[in-house]
Amino acid sequence: MHSHCPHCAQSFEPEPGFYFGAMFVSYAINTALFIAAWVALTVVYPDYSLTMLLGLLTGVVILGLPLTYRLSRSIWIAIFVRYDRKFAGETTMKQR
Ligand SMILES: [Zn+2]
Repeated sequence: MHSHCPHCAQSFEPEPGFYFGAMFVSYAINTALFIAAWVALTVVYPDYSLTMLLGLLTGVVILGLPLTYRLSRSIWIAIFVRYDRKFAGETTMKQR
């Protein structure tokens, strides 16, 4: 992960421990993935066993980890840092 945005120089680490709250976003995303995987398994294979369900959920978490990690951090910083249109599309590094 970059330390600063290459377009607008926004710091991606505003303060130590900033992304602690992203854990809760990640929890919500994983809960949604769990429910989706569980419903899909129930529809595709209604006679599933508990071992099969746990294996599927473990696989979903491991395969989705690169996505949920970055997505939860992006959502977390988007809650606190406002998008500013005047910096969009600029490619030079600026200090704000
Ligand atoms: Zn930016």
